[in-house]
Amino acid sequence: CTSRTCIGRFAPSPTGALHFGSLVAAVGSMLDARARGGRWLLRIEDVDTPRAVPGAADRIITTLARFGFEWDGDIVWQSRRGEAYRHAFDTLVAAGMAYPCACTRRELANAPLARDGSRRYPGTCRDGLGAGRSARAWRVRAEGVIRFNDLVQGPQSLELASDAGDYVVLRADGLFAYQLAVVVDDIAAGVTHVVRGADLLDSTARQIHLQGLLGAPPPTYAHLPLATNAAGEKLSKQTLARAIDDAPPSAALLAALRFLGQAPPPTLASAPLAQIWAWALAHWSIDAVPRCRQAEATAFF
Ligand code: GLU
Repeated sequence: CTSRTCIGRFAPSPTGALHFGSLVAAVGSMLDARARGGRWLLRIEDVDTPRAVPGAADRIITTLARFGFEWDGDIVWQSRRGEAYRHAFDTLVAAGMAYPCACTRRELANAPLARDGSRRYPGTCRDGLGAGRSARAWRVRAEGVIRFNDLVQGPQSLELASDAGDYVVLRADGLFAYQLAVVVDDIAAGVTHVVRGADLLDSTARQIHLQGLLGAPPPTYAHLPLATNAAGEKLSKQTLARAIDDAPPSAALLAALRFLGQAPPPTLASAPLAQIWAWALAHWSIDAVPRCRQAEATAFF
C-alpha cells in the first residue's frame, strides 16, 4: 500500500471468550497494520446469529481494551450489515454467478471432502433444481485456480473446483454465509492486509474468488501459526481453550510475541504494558513469524 493507507483488522466471532490463539491473531494483525503506518479495525463477526453466545462480544471487547488494544473508528457488527450482504448477493445473482440449490445435508453426506473437511458440492443443482425440488441455499460457481503469496505460509495455489467446490453464500436458514460477509466487510472497510490464524487458509481461495466477482482487488494475506494445546489440538472453544480474560496482560502479550517469533528482551518481563507494546511495534517483523509453532508450555493454554 504505497499509494493508499494500509488497513488491517481483527474479526473475532463472539462464540466464547478470547483464548491465547485469538490473542495471537489480534496481536499479529494490529502490529502488522500499525508497523505499516496503517489503521486497524475491529469487527465482531456475529453474522451466524444462532452461534453467537450472549455477552461474548462485550467480553471480547473488554478484554481487548484491558490488553491495551486500540482500534480505529467504530466497531463493525456483522449482525447489522444484512443490507450490504443482500446487495452483494443480488450482484452475484444478477451476474449469473450464484444459483439456488435444493440439496439437503443428508443428500450431500457422501460427497467427497473439500480441503477444509466440509463436503465438496457435487454440482447437482448447477443446471437447475430439478422437478419438484425447491431452493434451500444459494451457491456460487467456483472454477479456476487461485494463486496468492501468503506472507507467512508462502506461495499458495488452490484449484477451486476440487479444493472447495461451489460454496454457499446464502444458507438454507436464510443467513448470509461467513465467506460472503467477510469479503463484503473487508471490501467496504478497504482492508489491505488480512492477518489471521492459519485455520482460515483454506477459506482464502473462496474469499479471493468472491473479491474478484465483486470487482475488488484481493488484500494481502498472512496466516499466522496456530496455537495448539499440549495434545496438539488447535486452541478453540471446542477444545475448551482457556479464556485469557483474567490472564495478566503483560505476561500474555509477551507470550504471544514469542509465539509469533518476535524476541522481546527478558528485561521487558517486568515492564509496564505500554512499554511492551512500544517495543513490539518498533521491532515487529512479519518475516520472523514461523509457519507453524510447537505448543509452548505457558500458563495460557
Ligand atoms: N471470525 C473468524 C474467526 O473468529 C475470523 C475471520 C477472519 O479473520 O477472516 O475465526
